[in-house]
Amino acid sequence: MIKEISLGLGLAAVIFLGIIGYDVTPLVFFAAAGGALFFLARSRGMVGKNIGNVTSNSTPAGSFSDIGGQASAINELREALEFIRSYEKIKKLGIRPLKGVLLTGPPGTGKTLMARAAANFTDAVFASCSGSEFIEMYAGVGAQRVRQLFKSARDTALKQKKSNAVIFIDEIDILGGKRGQNSSHHEYDQTLNQLLVEMDGLKIDDRVRVLVMAATNRSDMLDPALLRPGRFDRQVTVDLPDRDGRKEILNLHTANKPLGVDVSLDSVAKETFGFSGAHLESVANEAAILAMREECKEISYRHFHEAVDKVMMGEKLDRKPSHEEIRRVAIHESGHALLSECIRPGSVSAVTITPRGKALGYMRQTPDNDNYLHTCENLESQIAVMLAGALAEELILGNRSTGASNDFEQTVNVVEQIIKSGMSELGVVSWDSVPSDTRFQVTNKIIRKQEEFVREYLEKNKEVFDKVMEILIDKERISGEHFRSIMRQQVA
Ligand code: ATP
Repeated sequence: MIKEISLGLGLAAVIFLGIIGYDVTPLVFFAAAGGALFFLARSRGMVGKNIGNVTSNSTPAGSFSDIGGQASAINELREALEFIRSYEKIKKLGIRPLKGVLLTGPPGTGKTLMARAAANFTDAVFASCSGSEFIEMYAGVGAQRVRQLFKSARDTALKQKKSNAVIFIDEIDILGGKRGQNSSHHEYDQTLNQLLVEMDGLKIDDRVRVLVMAATNRSDMLDPALLRPGRFDRQVTVDLPDRDGRKEILNLHTANKPLGVDVSLDSVAKETFGFSGAHLESVANEAAILAMREECKEISYRHFHEAVDKVMMGEKLDRKPSHEEIRRVAIHESGHALLSECIRPGSVSAVTITPRGKALGYMRQTPDNDNYLHTCENLESQIAVMLAGALAEELILGNRSTGASNDFEQTVNVVEQIIKSGMSELGVVSWDSVPSDTRFQVTNKIIRKQEEFVREYLEKNKEVFDKVMEILIDKERISGEHFRSIMRQQVA
């Protein structure tokens, strides 16, 4: 405000001098040059660039109860934060204060939420920034920004009469990668050194006790100096949620939404294996948007079903394939679905030929349980399902298409998994020491065995294709239940 008033007064003075006959050209020239220099320096972060978003609220929004499916990570973090809450006890016992907590895990699992909740839990001022904000081409700028970040967190805490501050650095791997590896490594190293210096300087009897929290998806990239005791003392893993965790997160994000009686969040959680908290938030949001578009008062299960498709595969495309292509896609996806039902009855959730993302159609399976380990039989079954699309095209249309290239890529990856886990005829081997022609032969043998099985099964169930294709071409989508009823009719 003061800045704007002074600027206005200065401008008024120049105009006044001009009116009463003074030559104001040199004044205007120097003012313009000074302004340009100031903005240039500011854009390069040399003057007063604000680094770190320090929340002005006394307590940042968000608490541990807003985070779902991360009970063990929350417990670990809370235990660490007790060091800050009961600092008097810690001081008496001469315990070194906790200086840093590193949150590691995949994107969107709630690391930022945890840092905010930690600030709330310790009644601290919260300053957040991303590792990329420190990186500039100009030497010394990053280091200066680190100093500024710590200073502004302390100053804000003092102003708000708080004794704790939490500094949260997201994507710390950008700033804290192993030293000496970056092309402009001198600047990167200086920035990291400054962070180490600031962390070393943190003391229990500081007027403001600062805790540095950082998040990364790649802790293996971090410089070992950051991870040594006395710096990031605690590492908390924030992983993808399991089925119960997913349900908890869905509960949190649907609490403010009107749900229809047919909505089972347990089923949505079951269908969303591998989703992060951010994905689940998006599913809840997209389901509500779909309900609004249809002018429904409540969100139904089908809205959730479509929202999962959207988050998994991407937005529906306007691209309209030709009639021939539509037929081919319907046959391809029905092939996948037939094999999926053969291997695990009840596993098909839906088959659609709506183009989304990169796919012209897809078959969605309901995962049985969250599986983290696979037997050789499981992996071979996955191969069979993946091969079934191309083999169905071959059986019904007489040839294959490029539509199966992604299936084959995945098939080869699964075969590689079988060999690397010592479950192939080669026994336990080091993948790198297997000659390429041996790899080729073993891969070929595994795939051929599944191809034979799939061909035979599809041949026996050939009639299913006509009926399913008719429905898919008409409605673009068939539910798992409907697909199974057609299969039963054909078998009967
Ligand atoms: P990144 O590594 O990409 O920075 P992150 O792990 O920090 O991601 P957040 O920014 O905390 O993820 O989460 C993004 C959004 O996803 C949150 O605002 C929230 O809506 C939702 N979310 C993520 N995880 C959870 C969770 N465990 N419980 C509830 N909501 C969650």
